[in-house]
Amino acid sequence: MIPGIHVSVNGGLDKALDTLTELGLPCGQIFTSNQQQWKSRAVTGKEIERYSSRTAAIISHTSYLINLASTNKRVVKLSVPALEAELGRIHALGIKWCVLHPGAHLGAGEDEGIRKISSMVGKILLNSPADTGILYENTAGQGTTLGYTFRQLAQLLEQTSIPDRTGICFDTCHAFAAGYDLSSERAVRETMNEFNDTVGMDRIKAFHINDSKGECGNRKDRHAVIGEGLIGLEPLRFLASMPEFKAIPGISETPGTDSDRAHDIVKVISQ
Ligand SMILES: [Zn+2]
Ligand SMILES: [Zn+2]
Repeated sequence: MIPGIHVSVNGGLDKALDTLTELGLPCGQIFTSNQQQWKSRAVTGKEIERYSSRTAAIISHTSYLINLASTNKRVVKLSVPALEAELGRIHALGIKWCVLHPGAHLGAGEDEGIRKISSMVGKILLNSPADTGILYENTAGQGTTLGYTFRQLAQLLEQTSIPDRTGICFDTCHAFAAGYDLSSERAVRETMNEFNDTVGMDRIKAFHINDSKGECGNRKDRHAVIGEGLIGLEPLRFLASMPEFKAIPGISETPGTDSDRAHDIVKVISQ
């Protein structure tokens, strides 16, 4: 894996590039707009210019508010343009992938939720620049969120049916919380074999490398500092060293500052 962090964009998107350079990291994940607001900002000319000459590999993370599976029509009506705007911003910045939490069905049922998300993502991608794509992130399975089983991730990819513009962002904390053991080398091997049989390892385009505060299967999304959670440092190091993931970003989203996260990820991925 290539080491990276979720990097703050306080002070502008171009500031994130400076931070990565200062921390000596070859990749990062950013929010291109405020993740807690529907109202989004356009990228500036300066940001576009800086991103066009960057050396770091960058992915973006979409707003937490987006829920294409919502039973509330207003939320769906706001989610579609929000996701389209994200794809427009990453296109302008020369970023290929944005990470999306699939959504929560809020009682409508899992199959129905997956059907809605896939069909809307398919339409949104067809309406968006062809050099952009969406990574479905596996979730911890809290509440009625979808994408917590490997089977659901496979269904999302199959039903969206645009393979070169969709993939998976695999979050280690979320997988562990959803009941996939990653707490030993053997467990990592077994879990990734299961993922390969169900989804295909080649569909993973990014990792979120986080430890977990909660135990395996507790379905709570609580990231721990690497080595201080219930997954532990060694199994994450083993995962990061798998040859299949040599060229894949491994992004830490652990608590603390950018520099804390950088400290965390270099424990896992030695360059
Ligand atoms: Zn994540
Ligand atoms: Zn999380």
